Amino acid sequence: ERLVDAEVEPEDKAIEAALRPKALDDFVGQKRVRQQLSLVLEASKLRGKSADHVLLSGPPGLGKTTLAMIIAEEMGSPLRISSGPAIQHSGDLAAILSSLTPGEVLFLDEIHRMSRPAEEMLYMAMEDFRVDIVVGKGAGATSIPLELPSFTLVGATTRAGLLPGPLRDRFGFTGHLEFYDVDELELVLRRSAGLLDLKITTEGFHEIASRSRGTPRIANRLLRRVRDWALVHSVDDIDARAAATALDMYEVDSKGLDRLDRSVLESLIHKFGGGPVGLSTLAIAVGEETETVETVAEPYLVREGLMGRTPRGRVALPSAWVHLDLEPPES
Ligand code: ADP
Repeated sequence: ERLVDAEVEPEDKAIEAALRPKALDDFVGQKRVRQQLSLVLEASKLRGKSADHVLLSGPPGLGKTTLAMIIAEEMGSPLRISSGPAIQHSGDLAAILSSLTPGEVLFLDEIHRMSRPAEEMLYMAMEDFRVDIVVGKGAGATSIPLELPSFTLVGATTRAGLLPGPLRDRFGFTGHLEFYDVDELELVLRRSAGLLDLKITTEGFHEIASRSRGTPRIANRLLRRVRDWALVHSVDDIDARAAATALDMYEVDSKGLDRLDRSVLESLIHKFGGGPVGLSTLAIAVGEETETVETVAEPYLVREGLMGRTPRGRVALPSAWVHLDLEPPES
């Protein structure tokens, strides 16, 4: 329900499908990953073979699914989509692998959440394009080898560190996606506004981009809210003021903090003099679960340099006072 949550929400699905760039050249930012991927794809075309397996890592909403779709598109291959949590038994994976057509691209989202037996089956499939299917149980069990067509696996993970070494090693290419800077998000928004037929000024784009937490998914979501606001208020040309008014109304502030983020900072400053204070005490003061403060608010506050973590607890950093229009303490 949080507007600034980077995870995909059901209401995002249809519009995201409409806004997804379909070619590598339309994919904004991530220059290094784009260049390297382009090389991988070009080489596979020249060799006339499936591209190497690709691992994409990085936080949610930065374009991993989009890149998988682009890879399939650029290779002229069909795309099959599944995810780690959907593959709990090796049989689930065997069913997918054995139904692939030659050259198909298989996208496995959240690949770090696959079960161990499935993971082991995947090693062999990635390396030798075959799997051993075990039939029966106990002493009577036999394994039947099954040849697979060649395919390209595109794995996505938010936690590259959680992937076992043997799995990581079987990818020919690993791309790490970084948060986008404001200029890049402006380009994402410009493209989306074009597709949605919205008129927005340069400063308007800048205002929305600055509040998008480095994440295209959030940028596109905020854009939709601004569009709704403009429609209701009969505003045709969206400038910085219109964008700011709309997003203030949705309680997303100039740095993209929402109400929870701000209340964490305010508690830290007003109730604990800026800290240090233990996480659970801070959570009680905010009226939230410890886990919510730790997993939902803290990562972005730390990333933005508003809050710090010390061995003695959480502290507000000087930019937190500045952001809340307060005078930072002397020391
Ligand atoms: P992930 O799989 O990493 O969670 P997605 O690929 O689903 O993220 O991207 C979320 C949304 O953001 C999509 O609608 C996509 O159109 C948009 N998006 C992500 N990265 C880019 C980009 N580099 N350029 C343009 N749009 C992007």
